[in-house]
Amino acid sequence: MKDQHDNKTVDWVESKKPKHIETELGTEKLCICCGDYYPLDDEFFYHRIRKDRGGVKQYEAVCKACYPVHYNKRTSGRHKLKSKHGVQG
Ligand SMILES: [Zn+2]
Repeated sequence: MKDQHDNKTVDWVESKKPKHIETELGTEKLCICCGDYYPLDDEFFYHRIRKDRGGVKQYEAVCKACYPVHYNKRTSGRHKLKSKHGVQG
């Protein structure tokens, strides 16, 4: 839900990379922070369970390696973001 409105931080959007690609190993997901693809898996992406959507498993937009970097960058400004990120794993 947040992604649609958050167009301030996506400066790579011009490249129009698909968010998911199919490889011979399976589906890979784009990390919007480093711009690389990783297997859509708990090992590479944090996820949360969207109970408001019937328990849908939703992966974060950034990979695990980028997650602290990405969110530190965004919260190190003048004001803190609401800490609504319920991260598991
Ligand atoms: Zn990344």
